[in-house]
Amino acid sequence: EPPADCPPDVEVLGRATWTFLHTAAAYYPEKPSPNQRANMLMLIRSLPVVYPCAWCAQDFGKCIAHSPPDVSSREKLSLWLCQRHNEVNEKLGKEMFDCAQVDERWKDGPADGRCD
Ligand code: FAD
Repeated sequence: EPPADCPPDVEVLGRATWTFLHTAAAYYPEKPSPNQRANMLMLIRSLPVVYPCAWCAQDFGKCIAHSPPDVSSREKLSLWLCQRHNEVNEKLGKEMFDCAQVDERWKDGPADGRCD
């Protein structure tokens, strides 16, 4: 792990990006307005263009072409994103994440209160 004030490598960039995306999904509205949906869709669709890891961006583009983003609600978006993250986990040989735990991980924190 490089010192925190070094430019990000693919791993540090990935962790920061997933943190942002899962947190944005966790706080996305239950009933998003057309404008909120359009903006979330634009954010996701821009990743294959702007994400500063060329091969990551290219694969993610294929991934969302195959499984289009579901921006219809907080729950649907959080699940959709969890599944896409799991596809990347699978590609990299990482553990699958249980998508039933997504709110606990990114919004509510564990029941034991250690994150409160
Ligand atoms: P990360 O995968 O960064 O996950 C961070 C935390 O999120 C985990 O500790 C866990 O608590 C939680 N988490 C894990 N899985 C899920 C899930 N499915 N849903 C919700 N939460 C979860 N790296 C490459 O080497 N090659 C690539 O092609 C590549 N493509 C990427 C594409 C995108 C769009 C992004 C954002 C990142 C990509 N990365 C890629 C980076 C890679 O996904 C990891 O971020 C990086 O390897 C660091 O992994 P990590 O083990 O620290 O955990």
